Order: sequence, then structure tokens, then C-alpha cells
Amino acid sequence: GVARYGSEPRRTRARLSLTSKLRRALQRDELVVHYQPIVVPSTGELRSFEALVRWQEHEERLVGPSEFIPLAEDAGLIEAIGGWVLRAVCAQVRAWRDEGLHGHVHVNVSPRQLRRPSFPQTVREALEGQGLRASMLTLEITESAAMVDAERERPIVHALHELGVGLAIDDFGSGHSSLARLRDVPVQTLKVDQSFLRGVPADRQAAAMVTAIIELGAALGMTTIAEGVTTDAQRRFIADRACPLAQGFAFARPLPPEDATRWLERGRRPDDDGGRT
Ligand code: C2E
Ligand code: MG
Ligand code: MG
Repeated sequence: GVARYGSEPRRTRARLSLTSKLRRALQRDELVVHYQPIVVPSTGELRSFEALVRWQEHEERLVGPSEFIPLAEDAGLIEAIGGWVLRAVCAQVRAWRDEGLHGHVHVNVSPRQLRRPSFPQTVREALEGQGLRASMLTLEITESAAMVDAERERPIVHALHELGVGLAIDDFGSGHSSLARLRDVPVQTLKVDQSFLRGVPADRQAAAMVTAIIELGAALGMTTIAEGVTTDAQRRFIADRACPLAQGFAFARPLPPEDATRWLERGRRPDDDGGRT
């Protein structure tokens, strides 16, 4: 109707200007990576970080990835952004290494990156550029990209595995899972989709799903990470079910690099970190 024809050009213009701002942001080095701790739920012991990109548009405005990653995918900018994130993470791990700190990091990979035959080479170069072993890196791929039988992704996923990086399925349980395919993909880690955790512990179905995924991961010899663990009740729920790893505001928010460094130095959640929410 009227609204549709009236709003479309404006929306297109807005997207266009956002795209060129984003392209400029890349050139001007306005992207930053924050690091969210991944911990052992019962002890709070630090095991890894998830790298989460942000756009520091200006001093007061930090734009979250959900506001620009989908656009970057449509605009053909995701490969450039993904490559930048990989290099930034490798440079950070190198800086930590030079201080005697051993960091392990998860990096999100867009389905589009996973369709590029050159992607494993991009990953290799980012690692070699900083003299790092592949084992410091785990790539988080979406359920659908991991599960598809497509001829395109399959050899790329296997090349990444052969390179020696870890592979995790992100947001597990929300997409098109095939339990049969799960046996064939060289994945070591399952990240339980946040939507299940949100209902825990009150929603019995959500609780049953989380329990089932933890058990499935254990039975398949995979490491399960509960994502979006926000409350203390949720933390206790997954700790009681021996979920190996967890991530969420109950432990820590995504942290700027300096704060992540402090976590690495202590090897666990700082004691003086105040109350958790
Ligand atoms: P994701 O990979 O599933 O990342 C987890 C998201 O959950 C992050 O949002 C994190 O801040 C948020 N989160 C963590 N703990 C909690 C919690 O306890 N409660 C709640 N409500 N949320 C929590 P963020 O940073 O906004 O990232 C959103 C998504 O953007 C990510 O979801 C990922 O799909 C994408 N993304 C982020 N960085 C990159 C990147 O470098 N490359 C690509 N391709 N995608 C990225
Ligand atoms: Mg992720
Ligand atoms: Mg996730």
C-alpha cells in the first residue's frame, strides 16, 4: 500500500549511507573486538573467550554487531570485516603471548565466509602472520552452515579442521539440525542456543531441552557451552547438570581487551568484580 511505496526509497537510502559508513569504518579502523569469558560453570575458571565485534562509531556510540553484521552480509562487506576480526584477534593473542599469557579465542564465522574456498587460507595467514598455532582458535559456525550437505561448504569445513582450528556449532538447537549429520561434521563443541537458556529454570520444556543438549554433547564426546547464562539460578541449573562450559552475563559481559587481559592474568573471575546481576 501507500506506506510501502512511501518508505522503501527512504529505507534504501538509509541502508546505502550505512553501508558507506561501514566501509569507511573499516578503513578508519573504527571496529573493535570485545572478549566474553567462557568459563567452567562450577568454579568460574577461565577457559576461552568469544570475540565479539563492535563498531566504535564515535566516542559515545558503540554499535553492536546485530546492527551491522546482517547489513555487511548483504553489502558484500562480511569477508572484509571477518578478515579484520581474525587479524585483530590473532594480534591480541600474540600480544598476550608476549606477556606470557595464553589466550584461546572463539571467532564467529558468517555462512558467506564459509562458502569461500580461500577462507582456510585466510585463517592460516592470520595465524602465521602472528606466529600462532591453529589450536588457539575455535571458529563458531552456524548450525545450518555446518549441517548442509552442500558441496561448497563441506570441503572448506574439512580444510579448516585439517588446519587444526577448533570448530563449534553456534546457536545449536535453533536451526536445521540433523542428528545424523552431526556425526559427520568435524565439530568438537556445541553452543546451546540462548533461547533455551532464557526459559531456564521455570519453563520445563526449555529446561528439558538444555538438559538433553548437555547429555547429547557428552554422549558424542563433544564439549557443550551453555550460552546466555544470565541469572544465578541458570548458572546453578547448568552446573548441576555438569555442563562443561558456560558463557553469559552471570559470569562476565563482553570485555574490552584490557579487561580481558586482567581475566587472563588471574585465570579466573576476579574476586573484586562486585555483585553479579
Ligand atoms: P553469538 O555468536 O551467539 O554471540 C553471543 C551474543 O550473546 C553476544 O551478542 C553476547 O553479547 C550476547 N550475550 C552473552 N551473554 C549474554 C547473556 O547472559 N544474556 C544476553 N541477553 N545476551 C548475552 P552480540 O555481541 O551483540 O553479538 C550478536 C551476534 O553478532 C553474535 O551472536 C554473532 O552471531 C554476531 N557476531 C558478533 N561478532 C561477529 C563477528 O566478528 N563476525 C560475525 N560473522 N558475526 C559476529
Ligand atoms: Mg558466537
Ligand atoms: Mg551464539
